[in-house]
Amino acid sequence: MNNIDLHIHSTYSDGITSPVGLVELAHKGGLRAIALTDHDTTAGVTEAMAHGRALGVEVISGVEVSADHGGHPLHILGYNFSHDDRLLQQRLQVLQDARHQRNLKIFAKLKELGIAIDIQEIPPTPGQVGRPHIARLLIAKKIVKNMDQAFSRFLRRGAAAYVQCYRMEAAAVITMIREAGGLPFLAHPAANDRQMKKTPQLLADLKKMGLAGLELHYPTHTPKTFKTLQRLGEELGLLFSGGSDFHGDNKPYGQLGGRPKEQPIPYELLAAIKRQG
Ligand code: AMP
Ligand code: ZN
Ligand code: FE
Ligand code: FE
Repeated sequence: MNNIDLHIHSTYSDGITSPVGLVELAHKGGLRAIALTDHDTTAGVTEAMAHGRALGVEVISGVEVSADHGGHPLHILGYNFSHDDRLLQQRLQVLQDARHQRNLKIFAKLKELGIAIDIQEIPPTPGQVGRPHIARLLIAKKIVKNMDQAFSRFLRRGAAAYVQCYRMEAAAVITMIREAGGLPFLAHPAANDRQMKKTPQLLADLKKMGLAGLELHYPTHTPKTFKTLQRLGEELGLLFSGGSDFHGDNKPYGQLGGRPKEQPIPYELLAAIKRQG
């Protein structure tokens, strides 16, 4: 097979499958290449690469960083950088520390609401704790019935225990990835702009900051969105990436490999990425 998946989360962020397990799934699914793109961490990349070599699945380095652009949140994917770069790791550590502080504040808010649970009660994880881990604890403690209820009652923006996490400026994220030798891409461009009204200007702005490409294949992209993004990317001379945003069943959509029948993600995208960086 010639298909790839360049947007995957593991247990090092909010996925439920280990990097090794993901490479095994990719191998079983016949994928030729993958990128592990955990939120704000590259901790799983080395083991994914090692297992990829063993099974004959190409694994490139990846990360998905939350950023701020004029008060709006967006996600930037980085690909094919030196994941052991010291400056990159120092910068990611700042984000991980900020996330930990945010989590403590969420627990403090829950306590104020009369919900006496402790961050120590979250089962050990090899990576970072995020809101999905807190949601699962709320379910285990029978405070809510399911993930949806955990987010709508407590964790989503505007809910009772919501705390915003510190985000780097988009320009700084783009520079961080470039300085580690990688290529920055705008993740799921339609996520916050379904009508594609603000995306043309956003892409032009980000391109000036050094953006290399956009995520063209994504489970929620309709054929119309896909075509619009393809045209915008071509006009701006951007590269394309594609992925499933697989998290296991933490998120309802996004099977590994995306939707190979409707919207296969061809290896040619990765070949073009590798030619540029
Ligand atoms: P965090 O990075 O800790 O702010 O958590 C963000 C993660 O929470 C996302 O990547 C999703 O996996 C998950 N998430 C966000 N909103 C919801 C929701 N409404 N239901 C279930 N999971 C969600
Ligand atoms: Zn996630
Ligand atoms: Fe994202
Ligand atoms: Fe993601």
